[in-house]
Amino acid sequence: MNFVLHGASLSRGVTIGHAHLVSTARLEAAHYEIPAQAVEAEVERFDAAVRRAREELAALQAHIPADAPAEFGAFLNLHRMILGDSSLSQVPRELIRARRCNAEWALVQQMEKLVEQFEEIDDSYLRERKADIQQAVERVLKALLGGHALPEAALSEERKLIVVAHDLSPADMILFKRHHFGGFVTDAGGITSHTAILARSLGIPAIVGLHIARQTIREKELLIVDGEQGVLIVDPDPLVLAEYQLRQSQLDLERQKLRRLKSARAATVDGTAVELLANIELPQDVPEALDAGAEGIGLFRTEFLFLNRGDLPSEDEQFEAYREVVEAMGGRPVVLRTLDIGADKALAGDGEVRPNPAMGLRAIRFCLAEPQMFLAQLRAILRASHYGKVRILLPMLSHLHEVEQALALVKQAKQQLAEGHVPFDRRIEVGGMIEIPAAALALPMFMRRLDFLSLGTNDLIQYTLAIDRTDDAVAHLYDPLHPAVLALVAKTIQTATRGGVPVAVCGEMAGDLKLTRLLLGFGLRSFSMHPAQLLAIKERVLRTELAEVQPLAQRVLRASDPAKTRELLAKLNS
Ligand code: PEP
Ligand code: MG
Repeated sequence: MNFVLHGASLSRGVTIGHAHLVSTARLEAAHYEIPAQAVEAEVERFDAAVRRAREELAALQAHIPADAPAEFGAFLNLHRMILGDSSLSQVPRELIRARRCNAEWALVQQMEKLVEQFEEIDDSYLRERKADIQQAVERVLKALLGGHALPEAALSEERKLIVVAHDLSPADMILFKRHHFGGFVTDAGGITSHTAILARSLGIPAIVGLHIARQTIREKELLIVDGEQGVLIVDPDPLVLAEYQLRQSQLDLERQKLRRLKSARAATVDGTAVELLANIELPQDVPEALDAGAEGIGLFRTEFLFLNRGDLPSEDEQFEAYREVVEAMGGRPVVLRTLDIGADKALAGDGEVRPNPAMGLRAIRFCLAEPQMFLAQLRAILRASHYGKVRILLPMLSHLHEVEQALALVKQAKQQLAEGHVPFDRRIEVGGMIEIPAAALALPMFMRRLDFLSLGTNDLIQYTLAIDRTDDAVAHLYDPLHPAVLALVAKTIQTATRGGVPVAVCGEMAGDLKLTRLLLGFGLRSFSMHPAQLLAIKERVLRTELAEVQPLAQRVLRASDPAKTRELLAKLNS
């Protein structure tokens, strides 16, 4: 049946493909066929991953910190037992042989079966153990996926699929990076939730807030995702299909043209240089940033290293990840934001539901409440600073004492490294995110203690307008052009620039083509965005005359009527 659903578009473009209905566990594991002659090697790959997961658990058990809770050892033991049980160590091997499927898929199939059985158990303690099965399986999956690229055949199959899900968490979205789907649509989700931000970074057309997609669409049904209009067309008729195929090839052509700008210097018509940086979530995102010609990393959301796992990454593991990014960027600056966990990015196992997580123990508040964990991250960042140009960025500041405490911990981390003769950049710069209205309003207080600032407009809008960025019921109220938001953004850029403190925008506003000239007119000279958006923004910068946009931007600021604001913005962009 031919029908159309409307939602909020996350990223531009058009994609045509077949529906693939997913749950999270299925997302973790791609499904592909193994040629008959490679089946035994696949079984061996599975065995090696189970061995590796068990060795990891043994190593963890051998180094249990003295202050770890007593249950920690028992929990590791249980996971080792689970992995030793034939239902997980043998049955998937049989599935690989019988169905000639890949190891990840066989493992997830078996896990789902076991979890179902556990869900039927009356005893609530035993029923809860299904979470242990899932965590133990995740460890094996991680070992399987480490360094294992999907075969080309599986990738080209995936490009023809459009994921249809009820909702996806930021942690789920990270798993997306292992896949190469053509697009995705969800029933839930706001447009600047972290899920949405990650979706944009994938550069594939995506729509959220469709409400009934998951229940109305059937597996394999033909879909068109129109990311330009926020429209999903289910089972299109041939005329509509032909029209969209044409649109798709036009967009491909535009993308290819943009690629020619990769090495062009980003500057306005009058020659003013504009810094274009990339936002990344994982070290694997660096090639895309370099490919888009990014001059550096303006925001590395380090918390994504902490998701999709049952434990915290150690200092060494973090150091390796940070160093990988810093080295790959070859001397270009890398801004590492300290852990912004909480709200929609909860750590695994943190089952406690807080009354209002976006305003709770999130980001710097969480880190200051967990100083040992924070110190480990700071040491890892400092160690990486020896290998390139690293800056530290503190998220969600609202009080000066948070900056002072964080700086004291940076100092302590430096002392600890110095005592161990570990090299690091002693003059490392520490900056702060301006993403709470209080920080924007009391800016000079922060400027005195920080080396640079970065405007987190996603949260700044959320907190200024009191709109939960993850809630699609209020997504229509989320407005970067609200006069209060524009006043805070413009004032921050102006005050910081006058005070000689470098300021960037790293929220989604920086990658929004409609706003590029407005921000340039406010005086912004440093933009950090997803690599997928960078070349289009560069093209806009190259076609901007500062002398023209500055007075118009000031008029936008003075406009008190939303219709007038939009009219002036249209003029700016004409
Ligand atoms: C922001 O809030 O604008 C930002 C860049 O940080 P995040 O989206 O990760 O909260
Ligand atoms: Mg933020």
